[in-house]
Amino acid sequence: MQQTVNPIVQRWLKEAHEDPEAFWAKAADELPWFQKWSQVLAWEPPTFRWFVGAQTNLAYNALDRHVANGRGGHAALIYISERGEVRVFTYAQVLHEVKRVAAALHALGLGRGDTLTIYMPNCPEAIFAMLATVRIGAIHCVVFAGFAASALAERISASGSRVVLAADVVYRKGNDIALMGIVGEALQKGGEKVEHVVVLNRSQKAAPQVDGRSMDWNAFLKKGEGHPSAHEVMESNDPAYILATSGTTARPKLVVHTHGDYAVGIVTSARWCFGMKPEDVWWSTSDIGWVVGHSYIVYAPLLMGCTTIAYEGALDYPGPEVLWRIVEQFGVTGIFTAPTGVRLLMRYGEAVTKNYDHSSLERVVCAGEPLNPPAWEWLQQKVFEDRIPVIDHYWQTETGGPVLGNPYGLGMLPIRPGSASLPLPGKEIAVVTLDGKECGPGEKGILVIKRPFPGLTARLWTETERYGSDYWQRIPGVYFTGDSAHIDEDGYVWVAGRADEVMNIAGHRIGTIEVESAFLKHSAVAEVGVTGRADELRGEVVSAFVVLRKGFEPSEALRQELLKTIRQELGAIAVVGELNFVEALPKTRSGKIMRRVLKAVVQNLPPGDVSTIEDEGSVEEVKVAWEAMRKAIENKP
Ligand code: AMP
Repeated sequence: MQQTVNPIVQRWLKEAHEDPEAFWAKAADELPWFQKWSQVLAWEPPTFRWFVGAQTNLAYNALDRHVANGRGGHAALIYISERGEVRVFTYAQVLHEVKRVAAALHALGLGRGDTLTIYMPNCPEAIFAMLATVRIGAIHCVVFAGFAASALAERISASGSRVVLAADVVYRKGNDIALMGIVGEALQKGGEKVEHVVVLNRSQKAAPQVDGRSMDWNAFLKKGEGHPSAHEVMESNDPAYILATSGTTARPKLVVHTHGDYAVGIVTSARWCFGMKPEDVWWSTSDIGWVVGHSYIVYAPLLMGCTTIAYEGALDYPGPEVLWRIVEQFGVTGIFTAPTGVRLLMRYGEAVTKNYDHSSLERVVCAGEPLNPPAWEWLQQKVFEDRIPVIDHYWQTETGGPVLGNPYGLGMLPIRPGSASLPLPGKEIAVVTLDGKECGPGEKGILVIKRPFPGLTARLWTETERYGSDYWQRIPGVYFTGDSAHIDEDGYVWVAGRADEVMNIAGHRIGTIEVESAFLKHSAVAEVGVTGRADELRGEVVSAFVVLRKGFEPSEALRQELLKTIRQELGAIAVVGELNFVEALPKTRSGKIMRRVLKAVVQNLPPGDVSTIEDEGSVEEVKVAWEAMRKAIENKP
């Protein structure tokens, strides 16, 4: 196996496999510590601690260290809004702002171990607040500033937050979206413990008031004057932040990431998988509301000493050229985006991409969902004409950073479109049956992680038992990712989708992703979500919801063409029961298709918890399309 893997990568994989603790200790040695560990790993199933006894501070390593090393004048953060606003901060300036917020948090009585909620968009103040919280040893829980009151209330209450930092508005597609009404409602539902609500007044309208607990951002900073702002010395396993999983499935879990091992995890994967280096102008198009925003907008690029871009707004507003214009204007060298972002750009076609100079770009990395081969081909071949790689990699909120990915930074492997490549060094994975037996090459099963690695969450906030039962006891002794996958002869891993979404059609197990990728081969298809529907004859059949690219209209002829494409790509086994044209799919705000909502529609059940949905109207639309389709089928002679 793995003739494709170059010798350097092969050596790294071997070393990590043979002595994982020595391997990770060596990797951790490359980061600065106030004091080194007494033990590399204390594995006490189901939980574990890395670099036991080591002293560090995540925010100190991200800022003070660079300033102390003479890089204070290097651009740390570029904020760009969809309105054309640009604000640039050097490392020294970010540190100055962070210290002001840290002092103000102290003034409110916050310190080591206290939690606070940040309900703000990708604006500089939110990033200062994250770093300031971590600096003083407190713990932030960022909530995507687009979630409704119930989701916010649940997170404020579950995190035990004593303070909420909020913005009065977020910018989205030309609108000011007001947040204060939502904050007020959330506080009534779940804010008993909240003592202060600090509001960043961006709209410059009358100072927004939630209730007696609110305070303006400037008054908050003023309160901090004269208070200490020094960093706290933390133990490697002390929590730096908690974050809810994105909630495509059931009740969100609050994942804990730490000061020490999390830093080792995200920096090593940034180097090995993304090839990140201090000279990079790095742009993760995500949001600080998600783990990508934590790891690859804020912490890893700053730990590495890069310039990081925080963009507020939609990638296609005011026009489809936004991404290309920013790349040209700021000389972006690396992009992290989600497949949904690629499919969005693809929907507008490649003409617009040709109007801008993107020669500064060295690579694009993609995660969050499988990067369907047609979307990969479009970006890699049509847009970049194979000049730079488009790299798929796989991870979860819980893993903090990539588990699978092309080790571009160590030695690029040939890309196999649709596969997130191999496990990165030190990430031991397997594909197993539900009773834990390893599957052979090509055989589908559940993707599991065999050993803890730095960055993998070791506990859930206040839910100790749920951590064990959800992750390490489903298949005893291994970490259960919940994803279905297979490994090919050369060790490449192919993720097929969430295990509970795999369809069983006449005895064949088919992943949702395989069917969606086949649909996307047709040039008319911009996005597609599929789910299985019970069928007496075949067990299940495919129910597909298709969004067309600009310039295509739904028609019976097109439907037949798409069905033909599926037959050509997957053969007769992928039986499509119904194919519906829709304008939008139910997606989480992080861009993941909520297939469980599609499933609920085709089962005629209520859609369940949709508090994380991007566009509530999409559920209704899917429902109407599906009902019309069913009627048409039932009325056929
Ligand atoms: P989240 O915790 O919200 O980031 O979601 C993690 C889930 O996203 C994983 O369990 C996968 O189902 C999916 N995912 C992330 N990256 C990939 C990828 N490159 N290929 C396939 N699925 C992915």
